[in-house]
Amino acid sequence: MSFINETHDINLKSWVASANQAGTDFPIQNLPFAVFRRKDSNEEFRGGVAIGDQVLDLAVVADAGIFSGEAQVALEAANAQALNEFMGLGQTYWSALRLALSRALREGSEHQAALENALVAQADVEYSMPCHIGDYTDFYTSIYHATAVGKLFRPDNPLLPNYKWVPIGYHGRSSSIGVSGQAFHRPKGQTKAPDADTPSFGPCKRLDYELELGIYLGNGNELGEQISIEDAESHVFGFCLFNDWSARDLQAWEYQPLGPFLAKNFASTVSPWIVTTEALAPYRTQWHRDENDPQPMEYLESSHNREAGAFDIQMDVLLETAKMREEQQSPAKLSESSFKHSYWTVAQMVTHHTVNGCNFLPGDMLGSGTQSGPEHEEAGSLLELSRGGTESITLANGEERKFLEDGDKVIMRGWCEADGFNRIGFGSVEGTVLPAK
Ligand code: CA
Repeated sequence: MSFINETHDINLKSWVASANQAGTDFPIQNLPFAVFRRKDSNEEFRGGVAIGDQVLDLAVVADAGIFSGEAQVALEAANAQALNEFMGLGQTYWSALRLALSRALREGSEHQAALENALVAQADVEYSMPCHIGDYTDFYTSIYHATAVGKLFRPDNPLLPNYKWVPIGYHGRSSSIGVSGQAFHRPKGQTKAPDADTPSFGPCKRLDYELELGIYLGNGNELGEQISIEDAESHVFGFCLFNDWSARDLQAWEYQPLGPFLAKNFASTVSPWIVTTEALAPYRTQWHRDENDPQPMEYLESSHNREAGAFDIQMDVLLETAKMREEQQSPAKLSESSFKHSYWTVAQMVTHHTVNGCNFLPGDMLGSGTQSGPEHEEAGSLLELSRGGTESITLANGEERKFLEDGDKVIMRGWCEADGFNRIGFGSVEGTVLPAK
């Protein structure tokens, strides 16, 4: 099965000059979607597409009347304050709009004159949530993260026996998910030190981030119906960067027997741009399961999933402390990893989620779980990097961290590279810790 088409051609150039610059996250081969408006304006939020350092304003494109058929239907649905209706249209419409946008933004396009006034500089816009997330489920698909965290919480029993059979997840809270730029107060709650007889109450002392991808569902399924593994990817609209902020001391005290609760639901942050599944086609890789591990049950197994079910999405985490901001220093890199290490694929997550008849709606989101790689330096959380808070991490300017401090801004980035294709990126997701209220 080939997912590559003319929109992925490395030789395509855009008449938007900044889209042709080496290293841009948003060349013409990417074309991710967001919801935006001009900064400090009273404009309505509406759909936009990133091209170089610009946003293509879909309201202006819709008015231009240059598209037709399925592309025009998709465009009108995407010209909205939330992308849910567009996401619910399905793959045929997403692809039709992507192809029309790709052709209209290419060098030599007859539509250049009509679209030149549809560009707004990304530096001049603000974003809202790209869609209404009705439901959000966070998975736990990095076996390296699961093992490292399991060792800290349960030294004698790090990886529970279900891990290699079931894509583990829990139902997260969608109302506290915000878009990049989110700032939130350090959560308060109950914690209990291992040597204390009773718990105490106060601000979280072990605040952490989690480096994840968000996976947005497009067209959903009826309650009671299952999505087969063969169909699963056709329901996935696209991917974003996702920071699942975590209060580790609250988590350690509350997580048994029902899982994360107040340790996770005070804030989570997504990147504004959704990179479509179609744009990610060149960066797919084989997925395999170690021969010594249990192989997936039949409903989670397909030849396509084996051949191309994984995505090599590279990610990193940077920290900008208040001191760095004051002294105008660059943020410090904490770690780097890739989604290709995931123990379960996106298709397996989608299929498993619906195997009992659970329904998806357009705009529902799955968290990938913290994407730690096999090496300690590739860990996607401070809990792992500081080995449970026992070792300090020294930053480039000499500051030290075990967990996040007030004023810290966490920045996550993502990008994809493959031989014979252009590099594409996700932009960034940023969030800042404020003092407890
Ligand atoms: Ca998580």
